Amino acid sequence: MNYNVNEKGYYGEFGGAFIPEMLYPNVEELRQKYLEVMNEPSFKEEFNQLLKDYVGRPSPLYFAKRLSKKYNTKIYLKREDLNHTGAHKINNTIGQILMAKRLGKTRIIAETGAGQHGVATATVCALMGLECIVYMGEIDIARQAPNVARMKMLGAKVMPAKSGSRTLKDATNEAIRDWINNPVNTHYIIGSAIGPHPYPDMVTRFQAIISEEIKWQLKEHEGRENPDYVVACIGGGSNAAGTYYHYLHEEDVNIIAVEAAGHGVDSGESAATSVLGKEGIIHGCKTLLMQTPDGQITEPYSISAGLDYPGVGPMHAHLAKTGRAEFMSITDDEAMNAGLELCKLEGIIPAIESSHALAIFEQKTFKPDDVVVVSLSGRGDKDLQNYIEYFDI
Ligand SMILES: *Cc1c(COP(=O)(O)O)cnc(C)c1O
Repeated sequence: MNYNVNEKGYYGEFGGAFIPEMLYPNVEELRQKYLEVMNEPSFKEEFNQLLKDYVGRPSPLYFAKRLSKKYNTKIYLKREDLNHTGAHKINNTIGQILMAKRLGKTRIIAETGAGQHGVATATVCALMGLECIVYMGEIDIARQAPNVARMKMLGAKVMPAKSGSRTLKDATNEAIRDWINNPVNTHYIIGSAIGPHPYPDMVTRFQAIISEEIKWQLKEHEGRENPDYVVACIGGGSNAAGTYYHYLHEEDVNIIAVEAAGHGVDSGESAATSVLGKEGIIHGCKTLLMQTPDGQITEPYSISAGLDYPGVGPMHAHLAKTGRAEFMSITDDEAMNAGLELCKLEGIIPAIESSHALAIFEQKTFKPDDVVVVSLSGRGDKDLQNYIEYFDI
């Protein structure tokens, strides 16, 4: 079984590029050039240098001793929370800004929900001196004020999406409209392993640095490159794709994907796409998405803004369908408690997204000598208000 993208841009039956005809030249240009550009020695050198000196990589692989003791297994945390800007998203935006420059683009657009991808994009645009326009739903602008301020300080223009539910979906539509109107000088930086081919594969390859590092770091710790389990939370699926990438075809490595169950998978308020999703098209690719019987996309819900997405990337739809990955659903309450537990046991305040991945230890029992690597995708600074209200701190 192949778990990587095939020549036609598909993972099994999922993926492809379902785009308006006006966007065809842009996406086709990217499709034809992305691998060639990524393989250029000068590209690799610049990418790796920035990951080292600017992002702060390699991120540590930390053996969480007290957490391991509590759950009677060996738990390692891949510390993406220590990256510049506080999460894994910067790996992708660094890669894409270098790609945009190689393609001769001078203007960058992006969509953002909670603002994390907007901040990561504004950061790399400042770094490279490129114009940056971030589309964001009007509602999200109101509820994510600190990230809006960050983007503005970094020199980005934040454009409100005022149609529909005025959230992420509408911001994405606005970004696509912009790209159609500015096809020559503009690159669209998508923030997760989603979108039309080649985006899911390109984003996955930029995030694959995560599992590349885990391999040699685990070898140092345990004398072997392969853990028994790799675990990551899934919104669109970029930190997960990067964590799994070099293990996809290693049969001794079990893959666990953690989705947000919100108030419960059957509550009508969740984002558990692998359970509730049906095949459909979202953001230009065929994948699993939550929809009504007549194909309208359902509003997702999760306490965590980064997991509050109605679809999953096509790679993950394929991993779910083939059974290569085990999918687990974690509720708001379970995630919040796991987040607080990490604070008390290890002195690390995790992003609420990452807390979902940590919560599996209450649901699933591992053997004492199992090595379980969990992607700690981001830090909890951005979620402080949420933690304060939830725990009445
Ligand atoms: C955005 C975000 C996620 C979810 O995005 P993926 O593309 O699924 O990785 C997870 N964790 C953090 C900290 C995030 O900021």
